[in-house]
Amino acid sequence: YKNLNTMLSGINAGLARCFSRRLHSPINTLRTAIAQRQIAPFYQPFIDARSGQIAGIEVLARWRHPLYGYVSPDVFIPLAEKHHLIVPLTHLLMEQVVTDLQHQIHRFPHGTYICINISAQNCLDPRFECDTREMVRKLKANQSHVVVEITERHPLHFTPQLNEWFAALRRADISLALDDFGTGYSNLAYISALNPEFIKIDKQFVSQIGVSDDTRLVDSLIDLAKNMRLKIIAEGVETEAQANYLRSKRIDYLQGFYFSKPLSASELIYQVATR
Ligand code: C2E
Ligand code: CA
Ligand code: CA
Ligand code: CA
Repeated sequence: YKNLNTMLSGINAGLARCFSRRLHSPINTLRTAIAQRQIAPFYQPFIDARSGQIAGIEVLARWRHPLYGYVSPDVFIPLAEKHHLIVPLTHLLMEQVVTDLQHQIHRFPHGTYICINISAQNCLDPRFECDTREMVRKLKANQSHVVVEITERHPLHFTPQLNEWFAALRRADISLALDDFGTGYSNLAYISALNPEFIKIDKQFVSQIGVSDDTRLVDSLIDLAKNMRLKIIAEGVETEAQANYLRSKRIDYLQGFYFSKPLSASELIYQVATR
């Protein structure tokens, strides 16, 4: 956790400085960061629970400010959402993912999933649709699949227009994952409107395994997902005990620090190449 601590103290020092300068309001700082490409994708692998092989990677935004150091996505993503910067931010990330991976994708296992997090504001955005098509086109060498992760924390309102937007993604062979499952608003009607291929069980439930004897909550989330024939990704797996428990429950995919932290593009490619 040394890196994490350095990162956290960087965030705190950075933000304090950032918010204390009136001339550089956080939002202008973020706007500049996007324009100057200070925000880059990191990649956290997740593994097939049976084979232990890399099944996919999740793209996670990382902002390294030249003076303030690392800023956490839990800080800048909500800021970007509030000030309508998430669309240009997502566009920047997707461009970089294509650049990072297009000449490396053949090294990855056949059919690797590439997961992108989006916010409600990305929905209905025609540019996002274009970007995903471009991504599918440039990364198809090993039959990789693009997956769009949508959090259930902020519920979507399914209008006919939104349904059509999702239908267009599906026609472009893009899958959906319902992120942070169990923390928000999804009920059965919500899941069936979204019609995802995956659900991601939130790390807050995974973290209870091995701590509390009461696994009823996580067990019932797993049962619900299985009854709906959804593939399950468990996130935030930090210990062997959690991995073993989830394997015993026949979860499809496992993700977390126990397997790998989020990696820079060069770290990721090195890992895949030396496997
Ligand atoms: P998320 O989508 O639920 O991503 C999982 C978070 O858990 C990531 O935090 C990841 O670094 C962290 N994590 C992974 N494994 C473990 C583990 O074993 N233990 C613990 N404690 N944490 C683990 P991160 O990168 O700080 O991102 C936070 C949130 O910010 C994400 O949560 C996502 O909601 C949002 N986010 C990140 N990048 C993007 C992006 O490009 N677009 C959008 N719209 N949201 C993003
Ligand atoms: Ca996610
Ligand atoms: Ca999540
Ligand atoms: Ca989260």
